[in-house]
Amino acid sequence: MNARFAGICGIVAVGDELLAGAHPDLNSPWLAARLGECGIRVQRVLVVGDDEADIAAAVREASSGAEFVFVSGGLGPTLDDVTRHGVARALGAELCVDEVSWREIQSYFERAGRPVTPSNKRQALLPEGATRIPNDFGTAPGFRAEHPEGATVVVLPGPPRELQGVFEAELAAWLAARPTDGLARAVAVATFVDLPESRFADVVGAWMDRDANPLVGVTVKEGILTARCVGRAETMGEARSLAESRANGLVELFPEHYLGGELEHGLGHFVGTELCRLGVPFTLAESCTGGLVASAVMDAPGLSAVLSTTFVTYADAAKIELLGVSPEVIAREGAVSEACVRAMALGAIERTGARIAVSISGIAGPGGGREGKPVGLVWFGVAIRGPEGSIETRASERRWAPSGRRRIRRSAANRALMLLLEAAREAATS
Ligand code: ATP
Repeated sequence: MNARFAGICGIVAVGDELLAGAHPDLNSPWLAARLGECGIRVQRVLVVGDDEADIAAAVREASSGAEFVFVSGGLGPTLDDVTRHGVARALGAELCVDEVSWREIQSYFERAGRPVTPSNKRQALLPEGATRIPNDFGTAPGFRAEHPEGATVVVLPGPPRELQGVFEAELAAWLAARPTDGLARAVAVATFVDLPESRFADVVGAWMDRDANPLVGVTVKEGILTARCVGRAETMGEARSLAESRANGLVELFPEHYLGGELEHGLGHFVGTELCRLGVPFTLAESCTGGLVASAVMDAPGLSAVLSTTFVTYADAAKIELLGVSPEVIAREGAVSEACVRAMALGAIERTGARIAVSISGIAGPGGGREGKPVGLVWFGVAIRGPEGSIETRASERRWAPSGRRRIRRSAANRALMLLLEAAREAATS
């Protein structure tokens, strides 16, 4: 590889649907951001259809003056998935069946209880000399091969969830650790919930400068802000300590929002796993979130050890009948009120014998808002059973901008998950 091209890459996104405007290319921007954190600058992005000759030409073009070419999509089993053929043509290599990939594909289908078809064998084809990249998130493995002109061509599956999963599992450490400018790189990750990106940027200030070391990169997905700190230094040890001390600095700035390191499986999985680990029986009483919180924690396996049942009490009558909220409270204060969420949490904890309960009642919109109770207002209740059996309740409110029903419900569910986590940690230590 020509040293002048170190740290430069091209991206090729493959798919007729991308060209037809039927589907936006989500992979290239994601890759560009993530590669930037690894010290790799994108020089050009090419989008091509499912055509072998076009793919070959794009890979050749993207290779020129680059250390890497990242290709996404077109690795499926059907005849219109021709990326491996196009890349092989660009490399001047034959395609052959990779036995390890073929066995892996067969066992994937076995586990899924589905028959494997001959066309799935296409997914095991690799250009001669290429190295398979395992795909634990789908069926088509990726691969890595050297272009005769010096670029390393990395081919990844098209579905963004698969591409991102494979990137993090198989490439991130390799790319982050490779020296591009003679310096070692190390990454430390901190995740935060309920923290707007703009507030993060305002508080963090110059730490987010593009030439800062460590470099801080931020992504936000489903209310979870992930900050990646990439440290560069002469030695790996120094790079790691730079990255870690910056991540710790971020945690100190936002302690009440801090969750942990990389959240591989989302907030619900993280909180559910913590609840299991802490061994604190819990329950939920959900109104406007309609089961979102229960569904999220159930992403974690083994939850039945700490969860027997939860309540979705949407109408006032259900809050009264199932949770014992007094009709007078609802008549006087309304269902979206401090008194109501306290009563909901109390009712839920009493009826289940759980140690903690979290309740949610809010106005997700678009209608239903009124003077003093606008769309976006959500009340949260928490009930905690002390060691002697006494139950303490508390309540808090949040007001989100009227940014749409889906977002308000999602934000409220995330907030409830955090309250659940805090209450479980408190109960586990009392
Ligand atoms: P599969 O094994 O699922 O067939 P693949 O590698 O063959 O994966 P494609 O067939 O190209 O990938 O695409 C599968 C789906 O992934 C497409 O329907 C599309 O929704 C999505 N996808 C592919 N490329 C992109 C992209 N660049 N951005 C966003 N979505 C994409």
